Amino acid sequence: MDVYRAGLSMAQWRRLIDDACRGQVTEPIRHIDEARGPRFDAIFVGGGSAGRFGAAVLRSLGGRPLVLERWPFLGGSCPHQACVPHHLFSEAARELDQAQALAGRLWYGKFDPKAASILELVDLFRSKRSGPHAHMNWQSAEQLGIEYIVNAEATVIDASTVRAAGRMFTARALVLCTGSRTARPGIPGEDLPGVFDYASFIEDLNYEPSKIVVIGGSKVAVEYASFYQATGTPTTVVSRGALLAAGGPGRMDDDMRHFVVDGMRARGVELLEQTIVTRISGDGHVAAVEVTGPGGARRIEADFVLMATGEQPNVAAFFPAVPVARDADGFVTVDDRMRTSVPGVYAAGDLLGPPLEMFKSRRSGTTAARNIMGVDSEFSYADIPDFLHTTYEVTWAGLSERAAREKFGDIVTIQVPPPDLAPGDTPLPMAEGSMLYGFTMPERTGFQKCVIDARSRRVVGIHHAGYGAKDAFQYLHHLMTRPGGLTIDELGDMNELYVSPDYFIGYARLRSSQAELTSM
Ligand SMILES: Cc1cc2nc3c(=O)[nH]c(=O)nc-3n(C[C@H](O)[C@H](O)[C@H](O)COP(=O)(O)OP(=O)(O)OC[C@H]3O[C@@H](n4cnc5c(N)ncnc54)[C@H](O)[C@@H]3O)c2cc1C
Repeated sequence: MDVYRAGLSMAQWRRLIDDACRGQVTEPIRHIDEARGPRFDAIFVGGGSAGRFGAAVLRSLGGRPLVLERWPFLGGSCPHQACVPHHLFSEAARELDQAQALAGRLWYGKFDPKAASILELVDLFRSKRSGPHAHMNWQSAEQLGIEYIVNAEATVIDASTVRAAGRMFTARALVLCTGSRTARPGIPGEDLPGVFDYASFIEDLNYEPSKIVVIGGSKVAVEYASFYQATGTPTTVVSRGALLAAGGPGRMDDDMRHFVVDGMRARGVELLEQTIVTRISGDGHVAAVEVTGPGGARRIEADFVLMATGEQPNVAAFFPAVPVARDADGFVTVDDRMRTSVPGVYAAGDLLGPPLEMFKSRRSGTTAARNIMGVDSEFSYADIPDFLHTTYEVTWAGLSERAAREKFGDIVTIQVPPPDLAPGDTPLPMAEGSMLYGFTMPERTGFQKCVIDARSRRVVGIHHAGYGAKDAFQYLHHLMTRPGGLTIDELGDMNELYVSPDYFIGYARLRSSQAELTSM
């Protein structure tokens, strides 16, 4: 189907995408300027955030990109199965947390777990997700001028040739952007009906779970377990290590991690750490998860299991045809210009391995594009701001207190609640999103910590469990990582929009006149 210069409206795009997702449109959807022939400056294999953003920048720089995408829309897994549903569920979890906690008070009625349906929310997402998809197809065609084929699997033939939609396309550079999927660890029974990962949970759920086990101990495990429990569905997390101690969350401050993990327990999530799953059992459908851990062997009944067991790269489209170097986990290795070991072949996004984050996908895609167009450009993701959701938004950047002490020695902290008070002793930090808890359940208002190198007075770590910190932290992180950094004195001179979670500005002002800084 040729849609080049067809000017499809959002409604037309939605219908087309919905029909294609239902299997009613199977032909490739081409937005290509055929008059210019099949030769491009770069072919982006995979039209997720890495491929789409890379293509947009290449086009802005005067190049001719082609994006090839097997789904009938651009944008990739984020709006289809990953970030967007996760944010919908996490927002629901936050609302449900308050509805459970304040049941029978103020305007809240009795909490009815039956009214909080996991299936209904998944159905809602499934029924509306083509809206954002349509926007990305429309924007890519009408505003960004990107040529693309969607609804077409691509196969890389060699370092400059790709087959898709029954045709061959060539380019002076390839950008591999095929993303990743859940790694299945090979647990006996993991293929039973009722065992899901984040993608099949969205695609295939057709019943209301009543007892859930989540396998894994990092972001996806914690986010989805918090949501399931908030709906009133009993949920157990089985983690082979300490919860939130590996990957990006491994950089979380110890005190904040305790606040988060204790908070999950207080809300009824059963957390089994240092525990291994030996078998998933059931007769035609999952019925139990068998585990062994510090308490010995145990059988946990469940009619729904979520595998949140890490990610593996999607390489089938190009490997071994293009034999790029890969690390021990199979992720493609690149230099800081996103060049693989094969000349002319770049890679971007989740294909490069952790951190698996949108900003990294977008920026690695655009870095590849710039370099292809001769604009020398580097991208390092060694130091990043990060976040996850429980029923809180948990955000961090820079160093934990422990890591800062190891690096700088002389550290001061600003912490709320302060270390000498228990969370229930004070209603602070209290701000937008936690005001109701401030006046009803002060132990639930949240946690903040700012870590400062006493000698240079530079802020070296910021940590927040509460609501609304992400926006502030992405800018604070930028300031912290400037050559001059961000000092407590500069922080104390900012104009805070009180009362918001003002991220230490007020406290920094209270302290910054001290010549010899002390903690508070
Ligand atoms: C549950 C969950 C929640 C998340 N939440 C967040 C969040 O809140 N914030 C955040 O920053 N990150 C989040 N992430 C991470 C984020 O989703 C990813 O980092 C990002 O989507 C990766 O983009 P990408 O372009 O590398 O891959 P993708 O978006 O997966 O794109 C790869 C594309 O390649 C296509 N493809 C693969 N093979 C072929 C082929 N042979 N031919 C044609 N096309 C092909 C696929 O169809 C896909 O569209 C989350 C991830 C998960 C799993």
